[in-house]
Amino acid sequence: MSEQKKVIVVGAGWAGLGATYHLAKQGYDVTLLEASPYPGGLVAGWKTPEGKSIEGGIHGFWYPYSNIFSLVKELNLNPFTPFTRSSQYSPAGLEVESPIFQEEPKLPTPLGTFIYTKFKRLPLIDRLSALPLLYSLIDFDNSDEAWRRYDKVTARELFKQFGVSARLYKDAFEPMLLVGLFAPGEQCSAAATLGMLYYFILAHQPDFDVVWCRGTVGEMIFKPWVEKIETLGGKVLTNKRVTDILLDETGKANGVICGEEIFEGDAVILGVSVSGIKKIVEHSKVLNNYAEFGNLSNLGGIDVLATRLWFDKKVNIPLPSNACFGFDETTGWTFFDLNTLHDEYAAETGSVIEVDFYHANQLLGMTDEQVVQKVHKDLTTCLPELGDAQVIDHSIIRVRQGVTHFAPGSYQYLLPATSAIPNLYLSGDWIITRHGSWSQEKAYVTGLEAANLVIKQLQQGNAATIIPIEPDEPHIQVAREINRNLRQSLNEFLPDFWLS
Ligand SMILES: Cc1cc2nc3c(=O)[nH]c(=O)nc-3n(C[C@H](O)[C@H](O)[C@H](O)COP(=O)(O)OP(=O)(O)OC[C@H]3O[C@@H](n4cnc5c(N)ncnc54)[C@H](O)[C@@H]3O)c2cc1C
Repeated sequence: MSEQKKVIVVGAGWAGLGATYHLAKQGYDVTLLEASPYPGGLVAGWKTPEGKSIEGGIHGFWYPYSNIFSLVKELNLNPFTPFTRSSQYSPAGLEVESPIFQEEPKLPTPLGTFIYTKFKRLPLIDRLSALPLLYSLIDFDNSDEAWRRYDKVTARELFKQFGVSARLYKDAFEPMLLVGLFAPGEQCSAAATLGMLYYFILAHQPDFDVVWCRGTVGEMIFKPWVEKIETLGGKVLTNKRVTDILLDETGKANGVICGEEIFEGDAVILGVSVSGIKKIVEHSKVLNNYAEFGNLSNLGGIDVLATRLWFDKKVNIPLPSNACFGFDETTGWTFFDLNTLHDEYAAETGSVIEVDFYHANQLLGMTDEQVVQKVHKDLTTCLPELGDAQVIDHSIIRVRQGVTHFAPGSYQYLLPATSAIPNLYLSGDWIITRHGSWSQEKAYVTGLEAANLVIKQLQQGNAATIIPIEPDEPHIQVAREINRNLRQSLNEFLPDFWLS
């Protein structure tokens, strides 16, 4: 019998766990090294000393997350709520209510999104100003060429160029950017904006439908998943911070350094965030010799603040998930009714509300007391009944530089799954993939893609099946084909007018 191949995976988020699970299933001797005390990465959850569940932000699972839904089925888990409706608030009150789109009569995209979304204040004329933008959604096909064409433009410029009204931008597109890409329009790449909007909202009518875990994702998905990995022989080791990669004399990776320890392997997969890999590169004797790794210092992360408040009385919260905008200039936030979403809080006598802030730079320096006051005040604007409720407990988690910043011009520095080191692979929600997914689903898919590259190289086991995103609807396919042909013909006769 041939010797079992060894693989080291670094980082236990969706990406690292995805790679580890598949490789363990294929009979590899796989060790996953995680710097923090819990697996799950940005989605990790844990309990307070009093035994209350908390996590670094609530995470939704959108309709197109086919690979995650298939994993959960394979693991025989039942972690999710039914699909939920959501709404949006501004300081003026309720702005938007979304239905469950899959329950409405199906219309060719994007008609359903435009017709079924209930805007309370935004005039029709402003909504119609989005129409010219449809051209850019057709033109942006997630190819390398399209990313290069749109990446150096800011989302704000893109919306301006296509004639989106100031009010539609402020009241609809910017809020979507703040919760989807975690940054205001002037700080988002237009390529990332188009990719994210198409995937989460516009490709198919039901895409914006979302489910939530009925507890922390850590408890409901990662815990049983890690147990399954361990029964397959995989090792998941926490409190193990990797500081460097080891190379043999031929330039191949043969292990990683983790404090005083060395873990050897036939291949290495990194599943760490942008800020995680930047820290490794900064101190690495090896990776700094490669321009692609040195260039990662051009990338950045975004600050988020996750808060959970326990109130002394229960108030009526019309819908369980809500996004808010217009309270702070460059910060978006969401709030969730955990009595409705989480089994653990269903029987509480008071409301338990999670409030997460994105692009929360200016909030991270506040004391816990100041944060609680702000959250209570902002929430009361949306839910006036909370005005005379008391906060009886709270949890505040500050995640500095935690989420990937898809800044204008960042694409040139993002990395694909393969690297200059022939058996060192990369995965995570910031890695370039043509799959088309985003966030947790993308992280998981890139983990599987990295595992498949290892399998191809080490010739042991079978590749993971990765479910592609649902194809474009027929009219979008036709429009894209016409646009591609037109673009090609024009390129033959005209100089390139688009400054990319
Ligand atoms: C507040 C908030 C809300 C969000 N909401 C949603 C949502 O609703 N839906 C959605 O799909 N996505 C959401 N996201 C995004 C989602 O969390 C990420 O896209 C996803 O979790 C990224 O997974 P990952 O595996 O790529 O990276 P990570 O989760 O960042 O995992 C990387 C892991 O690597 C570890 N690590 C780093 N350096 C080292 C080292 N040197 N050695 C060992 N380990 C190391 C880290 O500790 C971490 O555990 C949200 C994020 C936040 C912060």
